[in-house]
Amino acid sequence: VALGAVTALILAACGNDDSSDTADTGSSVKGKVGVILPDTQSSARWESFDKPLLTKAFEEAGVEADIQNALGDKSKFVSIADGMIQDGVSILAIVNLDSATGAQVEAKAKAAGVKTIDYDRLTLGGSADYYVSFDNVKVGELQGQGLVDCLTAAKKTNPSIIELNGSPTDNNATLFKQGYDSVLDPKYKEGWKKVGDQSVPDWDNAKAVTIFEQLLTAAGGNVDGVLAANDGLGNSAITVLKKNGLKVPVTGQDATVGGLQNILAGDQCMTVYKPIKQEAEGLVKLAVALLKGEKAETTGTVRDDQGKRDVPSLLLTPLPITKDSVKDVVADGFVTKAELCTGNY
Ligand code: BGC
Repeated sequence: VALGAVTALILAACGNDDSSDTADTGSSVKGKVGVILPDTQSSARWESFDKPLLTKAFEEAGVEADIQNALGDKSKFVSIADGMIQDGVSILAIVNLDSATGAQVEAKAKAAGVKTIDYDRLTLGGSADYYVSFDNVKVGELQGQGLVDCLTAAKKTNPSIIELNGSPTDNNATLFKQGYDSVLDPKYKEGWKKVGDQSVPDWDNAKAVTIFEQLLTAAGGNVDGVLAANDGLGNSAITVLKKNGLKVPVTGQDATVGGLQNILAGDQCMTVYKPIKQEAEGLVKLAVALLKGEKAETTGTVRDDQGKRDVPSLLLTPLPITKDSVKDVVADGFVTKAELCTGNY
């Protein structure tokens, strides 16, 4: 892609559509909420989007919140939870690092009379009072369809696909895969070839580079499209593809600055935008309802097969983003044009 074209796309994405809305200032609610985020490496979202948006949403609702990050360390995750319970939080919201640790923390909280909420990832076998997330099977369907659309536009016949899946201990990764395989499996039956399919432990972006290198080698260097489960894994694949002089459609998720820049540069075919502001505000609404002893508004239940229970849930709608719609993510106030326009092209 010519530099001029890339610049034009970036400028198009950088239209000045600054919308800012004012949320209602709720009166102070009694009780503190603890939130544990998972890590800083599996996705830029947790520190770049969730943390500031949660901070703002709790502030606007007049609820005291303590938001910490477990930095990918399960024992740190448990000790943060212990500390928060000790500190007297009324509610603990977690993004688990795996269901076993998450369930252990939720059981401890329950024993201490602390209500719990699963934020983004369902804790299988857990005891959370509520779950707030996006429709994660839908996220996967959008990724599968996005890849099909990009390959169809490239007029590829029976393309060879590598699937780079998320962490095997993240229930969301299972749901994403369920979604994209529901789109890709019929294609494989029609003659498309799956030449690689592997999970990346802890969504580790560095491990993803090694895994993708091995998959590409095993495929004899022949790949026409990559289903990467999020922008971080997509970027790992893109790094390896570039090293091998290849440029093929790659998917992603999270609409991170890096992912959107890869899309504008033509290295990534799509991402999935999950308006995290809605998820953060959703968590605050559930927390406030629990603090007030009221029933929260939900969209239904999500089945936890391991715990054999239906968890009252608030599920939000994800959106596919391609080159043409990057500007919508900017218009929604998720990323600023300044952030997006500082890529190295
Ligand atoms: C989240 C994704 C994120 C991934 C890695 C998933 O549970 O839903 O948004 O990219 O974890 O952190």
